[in-house]
Amino acid sequence: MSAAVSHTRDGYRPTDPIAVPPLYAWPPRPLATLRWLATGLLFPWGLAFIALAVLAWRYLTPELARMVTLEPGWMALIWLRNTALLTLVAGGLHWWLYIRRSQDRAYKFDGRWLATDNRKFLFRNQVKDNLFWSLISGCTVWSLYECLTLWAYANGFVALIEWHEAPVYLGLMTLAVFFWSTLHFYLNHRLLHWPPLYRLAHALHHRNVNIGPWTGISMHPLEHLIYFSVFLLWWVVPVHPVIVILSGFYQGISPAVSHSGFGKVLIGERARVSAGDHFHQLHHQCFEVNYGNTPTPVDKLFGTWHDGTREAHAALKHRRRARQLG
Ligand SMILES: [Zn+2]
Ligand SMILES: [Zn+2]
Repeated sequence: MSAAVSHTRDGYRPTDPIAVPPLYAWPPRPLATLRWLATGLLFPWGLAFIALAVLAWRYLTPELARMVTLEPGWMALIWLRNTALLTLVAGGLHWWLYIRRSQDRAYKFDGRWLATDNRKFLFRNQVKDNLFWSLISGCTVWSLYECLTLWAYANGFVALIEWHEAPVYLGLMTLAVFFWSTLHFYLNHRLLHWPPLYRLAHALHHRNVNIGPWTGISMHPLEHLIYFSVFLLWWVVPVHPVIVILSGFYQGISPAVSHSGFGKVLIGERARVSAGDHFHQLHHQCFEVNYGNTPTPVDKLFGTWHDGTREAHAALKHRRRARQLG
């Protein structure tokens, strides 16, 4: 992205407006769409999660035959695998950006560091609060959904499609993981902003205005139950288990990247890897905008799309004032 960069005291603000992907352009823009699929959607994190899912299926998942019956032994292994991988990604980003402070505040959306000695958080500490909800509740609910789905495949309750049987279909379903996950996110997130559910569950995630990698799946257990219901699609749409695992990784681990709080991670002198999701960062800062993600731009349809510009911010303020007056 060629965005000029402005580092203000308040934090990093990419100056290019957040655009709707060319996939949705009319008339169609096939070349721009292909470029977006490759670089906007898949590279680098999407591909990393696909590779991780393949490795996890080959080396870190029990044999299907063992998963025919629900037993604590293999289910614990899945929990351990998911917890370890989340810790590797969220913990790695946290160490690099917040403990080592390798790039100080460069590309940091919010000028502040994470909260300590704040009564709003469990243990009065934002990182410990986020760790608690992510590991204890998040990884457990995620792993339970995954175990039940793999158990269904092991028992033939859902047909298991092998790659040699339908490579094109499974390739498309791999891509569909990203669209399904983000569409599902919009829908469940919108529901979680319904005031009773918000107060009961989602407010816990929104304690975090200034976000970090461990904020990603720091949610109330009820929100985890709703959020990880993303797996239910694979109970009616038959795929290969590697796609089930990818679905879990994208839902469970990618939020550590999108919530990293830094638009880019600098590695060495030259390498800049895109990381934090400016679109979702704005949801944490402004609250009633950007309920979804950019790959499925439902917010555009409903007028809640905040593209990060001063104009969008002024329009939001205007809407708020009109509502107060009304
Ligand atoms: Zn929200
Ligand atoms: Zn969030």
